[in-house]
Amino acid sequence: MAAITSFKLLDLEDMNLFINGEWVKASSNTYFNLTNPSNGEIVAKIPRGGKAEAKAAIEAAHEAFPKWAKLTAYERADYMLKLRDLMFEYEQELAALMSIEMGKAYAESLGEVKYAASFLTWYAEEGRRVYGETIPASVPNKRLFVIKQPVGVIAAITPWNFPLAMMTRKLGPAMAAGCTGVVKPASQSPLSALAFAKLVEMAGIPKGVVNVVAGATGEISDEIFENPIVKKISFTGSTEVGRTLVEKSAPQLKKLSLELGGHAPFIIFEDADLEKAAEGALASKFRNAGQTCVCANRIYVHENIKDEFAKIFVEKVKQLKVGDSLAEGTQIGPLVNGDSLKKVAEQVQDAEEKGAVVLHGGKPLSEKGYYYEPTVLTNVTNDMLIMQEETFGPVAPLSTFTTDEEVIQAANDTIYGLAAYLYTSDISRAVKVSEALNFGVIGLNDGIPSSAQAPFGGMNQSGYGREGGHQGIRDYLEEKYISLGL
Ligand code: NAP
Repeated sequence: MAAITSFKLLDLEDMNLFINGEWVKASSNTYFNLTNPSNGEIVAKIPRGGKAEAKAAIEAAHEAFPKWAKLTAYERADYMLKLRDLMFEYEQELAALMSIEMGKAYAESLGEVKYAASFLTWYAEEGRRVYGETIPASVPNKRLFVIKQPVGVIAAITPWNFPLAMMTRKLGPAMAAGCTGVVKPASQSPLSALAFAKLVEMAGIPKGVVNVVAGATGEISDEIFENPIVKKISFTGSTEVGRTLVEKSAPQLKKLSLELGGHAPFIIFEDADLEKAAEGALASKFRNAGQTCVCANRIYVHENIKDEFAKIFVEKVKQLKVGDSLAEGTQIGPLVNGDSLKKVAEQVQDAEEKGAVVLHGGKPLSEKGYYYEPTVLTNVTNDMLIMQEETFGPVAPLSTFTTDEEVIQAANDTIYGLAAYLYTSDISRAVKVSEALNFGVIGLNDGIPSSAQAPFGGMNQSGYGREGGHQGIRDYLEEKYISLGL
């Protein structure tokens, strides 16, 4: 299906921020250019919001909070499901905006819109199940209760690689719990957030419940962390920035959840179904041009099947179609920017210098746009940068192992702990290895494990907190204990 190129949700010639239900310019009267990674062209000029806009948005959320919190979960669910329906109605437009702002292949962007909408569906329902507790008292004249209440105003700081889904994964549970808030989208992906805000307006969600402020990242985030109105911040982004936010949250001990970087091992045992393993590795590695936090970053293949697996895998990689994110049939769009392209090229060069062999690809693709060939490397060893640093690009490094113990040790030898994958048909091995891997998400014979109804999050320096599932709403609720004397 051809992507649409004219938009009803946003006027790209006249962009505004969304604060307190109004479309406003930044008080600085300055703008930043948003460029399309597919061709380097300017897509829109985005008002550069700053401290003043962040403050106004936080105050609007504060004002909206008591009324939103007082609605029943059923009333909030009605709004959220209406918003979800609008996401479906405008899915082509949302997908095309996402593709032009951050380069995701259009077919995948459409998939992300659906995935993003699934968080609204799930949490609209989950909000109805925010149960309290009664606790048996130790004396006859007391009754003990626990009730759950929304934390208040929240802030969501989101990355560019899943501009809609990372927002609804936070806003879904927040809105369902009765919280109101502010979204600070990544500078490379404000369009998705602002188009979503338009749908919030169209759904009739009361003003101030959701606000979107793009712009001067430092100023906006300082206001978020310093303003005592904000009670909880959910951040998805790099481990590096996550560390600085922990420090920033300290003075007010703000509740903080962190969904950070990853360096996923993808293990293929001798007894695996190699066709399925290759399909899983392809999906895990090359989705979003390799720019996902759960991307297979180290592929460990058992020594006895390495050649057979490599052959099947390379054949599949060769079929991947690279191109402009909106072009028909594109499966791999550009990388998000020149720095990403440089990093990927450096990792491949470093690997080659240290003895890796390129089985396919291995080069940037064009002068215009940030394209890198889908690449497979073999003879990869642990001393190579690619085995240590997040790649965030379409490069699959193949390494080998002989024993389960050896591969578990190698897989766990990282500061990260977000996702890990294993392919095996031995049920005992599947259980034992899944239990031994120090990662928050395990794809067991599954290359795409994320879903709205399951808890997603990391161990180690991949962050803390869980998003998705019934666990994902906890961070937006305070548990209050009431002791009633009779
Ligand atoms: P990033 O550079 O850390 O940015 C993430 C968000 O934080 C953006 O909105 C960014 O704004 C903002 N930001 C940057 N510096 C900040 C600071 N000092 N204070 C407050 N906010 C700041 O990450 P990214 O490049 O957008 O995203 C890629 C990273 O996200 C990867 O490491 C990936 O693994 C991780 N990720 C994790 C998950 C997960 O669920 N665990 C999911 C997706 C992505 P600007 O864009 O304006 O700089």
